[in-house]
Amino acid sequence: MTIWNDYQLVYSLSEAVEAYDQAEKPVRFVSGGTDLLLEIQQGSHPAMNTLIDLNHIDELRELRVMGELIFIGAAVPVSQITNSPLIKEHAMAVAEATGLIGGPQVRNSATLGGNVAHALPAADGMISLVAMNATAISYSHTDYSKKNILDLFKGTGESALEKDEILVGFEFPVKKSGEGSAFDRVMRPQGVALPILNIAVWLRRKGDVIDDIRIAFGPSGPVPTRALKVEEVIRGKKLTDVTISRAKETILESMKFRTSKKRATAEYRYLLAQALLEKVVSKAWNRAGETK
Ligand SMILES: Cc1cc2nc3c(=O)[nH]c(=O)nc-3n(C[C@H](O)[C@H](O)[C@H](O)COP(=O)(O)OP(=O)(O)OC[C@H]3O[C@@H](n4cnc5c(N)ncnc54)[C@H](O)[C@@H]3O)c2cc1C
Repeated sequence: MTIWNDYQLVYSLSEAVEAYDQAEKPVRFVSGGTDLLLEIQQGSHPAMNTLIDLNHIDELRELRVMGELIFIGAAVPVSQITNSPLIKEHAMAVAEATGLIGGPQVRNSATLGGNVAHALPAADGMISLVAMNATAISYSHTDYSKKNILDLFKGTGESALEKDEILVGFEFPVKKSGEGSAFDRVMRPQGVALPILNIAVWLRRKGDVIDDIRIAFGPSGPVPTRALKVEEVIRGKKLTDVTISRAKETILESMKFRTSKKRATAEYRYLLAQALLEKVVSKAWNRAGETK
């Protein structure tokens, strides 16, 4: 089958937008192609006349510290993110999440931009960015704009990005003393794509108290969200069995996991969520105690 007729390489954001405007439609941006090309091949996405490849835009391939912020370009292959000493130092949740996407071949092509733009509520990299409270930088027409990562989604598989809007990258604050993050997930044994459930946690400890915390589970609804009620129960508390047990009760009371035919029942997801919460909060807590 024909997946595309015209495949264009572009070298700057303005060139990408111009190519998009002038392309014979339908047209789509592509980065690693590990979602888009497979979906077209498998018939779950219409074939495109034009694909515009974003991989040669330098800005989208940068991974660096900018003052107090870490910037990860939208087209950096996730294997590079996983192995980056910078990301391991500042955002272990992101290093762990990207390190679990597919297998080595997929990770050498897949990008965080594609993971987020595909808008699936269990996407591993995306969930880690939610816990990091990342800001997404995008480019449309001639302007850059910044949005919180949670403002990029309209529904399952439905991004809030304009069709000609390009994700440039993601930024979040550098890790400060007392902060730590972690990610984990449970897959079906034969699973290679999205998990049954994943979780990312960022927290800050002050003495023996969890001073602040962010928790994201995926999937937990049609669009990604934070587990705000669970966060509330933990924030300001010591990490004790009582705190964890109250947080687990709050998962049962406040989270809306659903049964999905291909992955798991809602009941199983509630069990996993409780076990993963305890494990991943403890991991983030221990990391937050390490000296920088
Ligand atoms: C075998 C296999 C295993 C996988 N396992 C996992 C897994 O464990 N966890 C997981 O989360 N995912 C998994 N995936 C899905 C996929 O690899 C990831 O979602 C990946 O990060 C997508 O990135 P990409 O660059 O390949 O996206 P692409 O396929 O290039 O693009 C996906 C979508 O995003 C849009 N897009 C891409 N880049 C941009 C940009 N910069 N700006 C705007 N729009 C953009 C495209 O137009 C398209 O709509 C797996 C896929 C395969 C094939």
